[in-house]
Amino acid sequence: MSPQDSEADSGPALIELRDLRKRYGQDQAATDGPPPVEVLHGINLRIHAGEFVAIVGASGSGKSTLMHLLGCLDRPSSGTYRFKGRDVSTLDADALADLRRQDFGFIFQGYHLIPTESAQENVEVPALYAGMPKTERTGRAVALLTRLGLGDKLRNRPNQLSGGQQQRVSIARALMNGGKVILADEPTGALDTRSGAEVMTLLHELADTGHTVILITHDRQVAQQARRVIELRDGSIVSDTGDEPPTHASPQCSEPKNETASAALAEMRATLRAAWRVMWVNRFRTSLTLLGIIIGVASVIVMLAVGEGSQRQIMAQMAAFGARTLQIYPQWSSAQVQPAKITLDDVAAVRDVRQVVAAAPYIEGTLTIRRGNTDHKANTGGTTTDFPRTMNWGMARGAFFTEADELALAKVAVLGHSVYRKLFPAGGDPVGQEILIDNQPFLVVGVLRKKGASMGEDQDNRIVVPFDTAATRLFGRRNPDWIAVLIENLQSAGATGEAIQAELTRRRDAADLQIWNQAEAIRVQSQTDRTMTLMLGLIAAISLVVGGIGVMNVMLMAVRERTREIGIRMATGARGSDILRQFLGEAVLVTVTGGGIGVLAGLMIGGALLLANVPLAFSWTAIFVAFFCAASCGLVFGYMPAKQAAQLDPVVALASE
Ligand code: ADP
Ligand code: MG
Repeated sequence: MSPQDSEADSGPALIELRDLRKRYGQDQAATDGPPPVEVLHGINLRIHAGEFVAIVGASGSGKSTLMHLLGCLDRPSSGTYRFKGRDVSTLDADALADLRRQDFGFIFQGYHLIPTESAQENVEVPALYAGMPKTERTGRAVALLTRLGLGDKLRNRPNQLSGGQQQRVSIARALMNGGKVILADEPTGALDTRSGAEVMTLLHELADTGHTVILITHDRQVAQQARRVIELRDGSIVSDTGDEPPTHASPQCSEPKNETASAALAEMRATLRAAWRVMWVNRFRTSLTLLGIIIGVASVIVMLAVGEGSQRQIMAQMAAFGARTLQIYPQWSSAQVQPAKITLDDVAAVRDVRQVVAAAPYIEGTLTIRRGNTDHKANTGGTTTDFPRTMNWGMARGAFFTEADELALAKVAVLGHSVYRKLFPAGGDPVGQEILIDNQPFLVVGVLRKKGASMGEDQDNRIVVPFDTAATRLFGRRNPDWIAVLIENLQSAGATGEAIQAELTRRRDAADLQIWNQAEAIRVQSQTDRTMTLMLGLIAAISLVVGGIGVMNVMLMAVRERTREIGIRMATGARGSDILRQFLGEAVLVTVTGGGIGVLAGLMIGGALLLANVPLAFSWTAIFVAFFCAASCGLVFGYMPAKQAAQLDPVVALASE
């Protein structure tokens, strides 16, 4: 397959380096950085499949640099590197990740295990990125660890293992995806003699079973154990015991098969599980981050529920007070000594305006009502039989007085609900009972239906009698204090109001009356309420954004803290997109959790408010939208840090502390 076959003395080489050079600090040279340093000066090297090679050299001679190049963790500055005959420099980052995942297994001096994951999970990492199905992955990891004598330490975290054990975990990890080429950088450097010897025995076994093993060490004695020793000094090869191809064939190790399609879900689940663990490990920090999201979501839900609740209450009020009712009052300004007087002719004129269905005069005063020993002050009004219709006010008991009563100046009274309750505390039928209004006997004929409060006044603390009766017997004047008007339809309330106003102004030669539109007033009120809700909603939304920024901050911190973990994952074959997905997954998990708790908190706060009689109506749409916003907050604010993580250079990431 290799085009270089012709000049090979012993078959195609697995690895072929030609005049490979590596310079550091190239890009900074233009500015104030140190001048570029060449640390590998034209390396020429061929390694065949199945060889056991030791690269030996003093510290600083460029061994690690060479290993990073061999393992496709880094790119050479010049020269060519052919792996299986293919020029590696033509490959993009993802293709290099694929190579690392399929062909290489790394063993580092510092083990480089992921501290938050157990031994077994650490070993499974490369298979995760290879898309191996879960059962196979678990089986293989357990088998490898058991083979390396760690069958009873599967669940241990790295900090619960000795150095030798951690190095064996990292060897198992290197073998997880087959590990055709094992690259070991000072694998015994941090170990005591016995553990070191164990690791060397393992490497021998691997070489015997067909793995290509490249061992990097500064220790000559360790290097002597390999079948071929290459010595590196100051970035150049100074001796090589020769590249004889091994007698045995290519790797015997079982190669795992990958089912990428079916494993996507498993990988997703593993990502979420890992994300959950990271969240749990940093639970204090996470909960602080969550707080912003929780407050945001909960307040959005509560604010909108309160807004919706008051909206509904207003609608109910509108229904109760009759949206088609207008009231005409004298204008009352400080410049006037006395308010303008309304006359009964005005009432008649209003009645004649188009679109006006009925108009009822109302003359009123506060008088003392008495029954038995009970005295009570109430609004006493004289009006006509049109009153119930114009005010949209039905009867709870008995009947309203009649036109005959009006004509006869009858002393009959209709009680408002509060007056009824006051005078008849025991309940019972008041119709036919006698009461005193301003010490004059009146006969109760009916009770008005309960209406409630409007503009802070109890509308039911009222007693109504015929207009003429009130005018002559109670007040001694005939000018209505206001007029209740029923109009034909609500849509043209404004125009009708203007028509009435125009007619009255024309008749009276002055614009001294004003029209009060109950429905309009309620609508204005509801408008301010809605503005208020909107404002509060905005504040809630801002707190969501602040929460999102918190998430971003924490994720940026996480990326910085876990740079080495990212490097490890990349070395085991994670593509940039895998890293992106992982960190995005973590961010979304945080915000989804925050959103969920926020919804619960919102419902609980709302429930408490309901118990405190605050009118409240939960909107499921609002709840869904708030949750959705929180969740997408994770996507939006997690993206930048995740992207940053995904773009890290594997070597730089691995070298970080
Ligand atoms: P070894 O592994 O043999 O001890 P290295 O390959 O780590 O040697 O380093 C070889 C030389 O390259 C050293 O002089 C080191 O200072 C230098 N070097 C390594 N990495 C970098 C880097 N990222 N930037 C600049 N110089 C580096
Ligand atoms: Mg080194």
